[in-house]
Amino acid sequence: MRPAASEQKESVHMSTACPICGSYNVQVIYQVSAEEAAYNWIVAGKQRESIAELAAHIRVLWGREIANMMDCLDCTFGFSDPFVAGDAKFYELAFGPSNYPRDKWEYRKTLSALKSFPVNGRALEIGSGYGFFLEKISPHFFAPSQVTAIEYNNIAIEKLKNKGYRVLSCDPTELLESNESYDAIFMFQILEHRDKIHETFSALHGLLNRHGNLFIAVPSPSSIRFWERNGGIMDYPPNHIGFWNCSNLEDMALRFGFSVSEIAVEPFRFFTFAKWDVFFSYVRRAQKGEFIAKKLYRNRRSGIGRYLNLAALIVLAPSRVPVWIKALFSGQSLAPHYWIHLTKN
Ligand SMILES: [Zn+2]
Repeated sequence: MRPAASEQKESVHMSTACPICGSYNVQVIYQVSAEEAAYNWIVAGKQRESIAELAAHIRVLWGREIANMMDCLDCTFGFSDPFVAGDAKFYELAFGPSNYPRDKWEYRKTLSALKSFPVNGRALEIGSGYGFFLEKISPHFFAPSQVTAIEYNNIAIEKLKNKGYRVLSCDPTELLESNESYDAIFMFQILEHRDKIHETFSALHGLLNRHGNLFIAVPSPSSIRFWERNGGIMDYPPNHIGFWNCSNLEDMALRFGFSVSEIAVEPFRFFTFAKWDVFFSYVRRAQKGEFIAKKLYRNRRSGIGRYLNLAALIVLAPSRVPVWIKALFSGQSLAPHYWIHLTKN
């Protein structure tokens, strides 16, 4: 039987420690059931049986029905409790085939850092997708034969191999056992999906040569929470399970023997924000089961469906103006991403 919310919060407060700092001074932001989390992915157009299958799998991962979204009141890290990452089956059921953007702010940011402080030798990217970032740094900074990509998606693995990179499907913590060493490691939009974060930082440190460089990018928790509170999509676990801010990244870097070379916050751009806001609020309506949004969104890839969805977004946009005004006042605190360049001491 599902415990009463107050009962659940009390037990969490007593027994859940922050994954970064170990503090028990934590609070529950909200709770989500395995079924709600699974239903969240109807955005992928899944059938009801698939939602039930996904919910059952999330229950197995969590070992229970309810997860809590927590904040550490000492180090400000946000995390899911249980702090358990999604596995390959979760991503397959929840998302299906992956879609990788060609360009990202963190790619440009890293390129400009590499131009200022050229790094040569061996490079490792964790989560390479189709290799769009690697194309930007290889062969200019790293010969393809010196590049290792960690990737699990079969289509992506083929593409990466065709580009001449070495491809591995393993966890970075396993790589450490085979005495691998690199001069640069890139890990973009990965850390927020991972549990065992101390082991992760320890492995990243162990895999780098002395004075080696580590580049990490994560989504900004304040931007995610803003949308959750203002009618946008909910960022339910076990997709993102760690909500990292700049001070959390710095904290872990210093604990594990890195110096912070540079930290950057992606500039808040109002029109980009407004565009995503309309889209996210529309998806949220579909997730909540609003009949028209749900029906239209499921058919968004058909010929006429595209135009109907575009029309729905245009109709919805004026209702979001109060949220946009709030966002304008929040400004840079709603920056979408954080980026950090660390150097091994
Ligand atoms: Zn903490």
